[in-house]
Amino acid sequence: MNVFDDRTVISNNMAGIYLDHSATTPTRPEVVEAMLPYMGASFGNPSSIHFYGQQAKAALDSARDILAGSIGAEPSEITFTGSGTEADNLALVGTILAYPQNRRHLITSSIEHDAILKTSAFLQTLGCRVTILPVDADGVVAPEDVAAAIGDDTALVSIMHANNEVGSIQKIAEIARITHEQGVLFHTDAVQSFGQLAVDIDQLGIDLMSVSSHKIYGPKGIGMLFVRRGTPIIAEIQGGGQERGRRSGTENVAGISGFAKAVSLLLPERAETAKRMSILRDAFIEKVLTQIPGSSLNGPIGPARLPNNINLSFDNIEGEALLLNLDIAGIAVSSGSACSSGSIEPSHVLIAMGVDTGRNRGAIRLSLGRETTELEMNTCFQVLSETASRLRAMAGHSLRA
Ligand code: PLP
Repeated sequence: MNVFDDRTVISNNMAGIYLDHSATTPTRPEVVEAMLPYMGASFGNPSSIHFYGQQAKAALDSARDILAGSIGAEPSEITFTGSGTEADNLALVGTILAYPQNRRHLITSSIEHDAILKTSAFLQTLGCRVTILPVDADGVVAPEDVAAAIGDDTALVSIMHANNEVGSIQKIAEIARITHEQGVLFHTDAVQSFGQLAVDIDQLGIDLMSVSSHKIYGPKGIGMLFVRRGTPIIAEIQGGGQERGRRSGTENVAGISGFAKAVSLLLPERAETAKRMSILRDAFIEKVLTQIPGSSLNGPIGPARLPNNINLSFDNIEGEALLLNLDIAGIAVSSGSACSSGSIEPSHVLIAMGVDTGRNRGAIRLSLGRETTELEMNTCFQVLSETASRLRAMAGHSLRA
């Protein structure tokens, strides 16, 4: 049986609706097919001279060409990594530590993914200066704030292309222009945006950019960092000198081939899929806000938001409770807050946007994918609406008891 014939998953004996594509996407069958040879007969090490090795090297070269072409870069500017997280780490640590002690200032924002925020905190422990910029109520960084924060010691500005929780798209072309005027490098985490928005590194003025394969229907455990030629950067992982010395370790040829396949399938359909998702997104948001009392939208509305992102709060309801009830109904979403060590951590993104504690705790994120249908969105709305009323009724009942 081919498990990929039917994309529905079975959860508690019900057909599932997957609305968590920002967490990860289903690997496309064509991607799995593209990977299989490198897990079998074509097992060579790309560093080997013999034909087994050269077969693997050819796959690696072809994948690098596809990745580079997809963003307007040269193949030599692509470094494959083990994840988007690793690409972010290499971008920050690799560039900051390439500068002398008196030029190790990093500027980033309060809504970045932990791959950036925790790496920034690590750099601080090494004595680097870090500035974390605020955002407005829509989760957008003001380019003027970037300009004001740049000092003589600034080496790198890292602002994400689009936020993973609320989908806010940042003004990165403007921010990149400002940083370049001051002779400062610009990195962007494009892990969430790459699957939905066109990314041209020259048009946007990007020096370094992180992308992750599993967010674009490719395999997990593969990412890439674009590093513009001439950018000072040192390796974090030392060893055999693979990836032009920037990331040692025998390459994951199967994963990289799958990543490239996912990109080649994505490009011709990206704009059309994004348009379709944004129509479904806007219709859903409109229905929730007008028909479910006490609901509110977190993040911007319209084109300033990632086409697949919906982040909503419901007064007097915990996001976790909604998530669990939707899960029981076979609908997979994620909550705004993160559950760690048994306690619920409010979302740092919503805090940075000034969202109050109640709304923060009531937030859920729905992220659409290339196969999401209107019927699925309608079913989700129905279940969400009924669940919200039921949870409120239960709370009211327990208050009276
Ligand atoms: N950056 C952003 C904005 C993300 O959303 C994620 C994953 O959710 C990452 C980085 C990390 O990517 P990976 O899961 O490939 O490590």
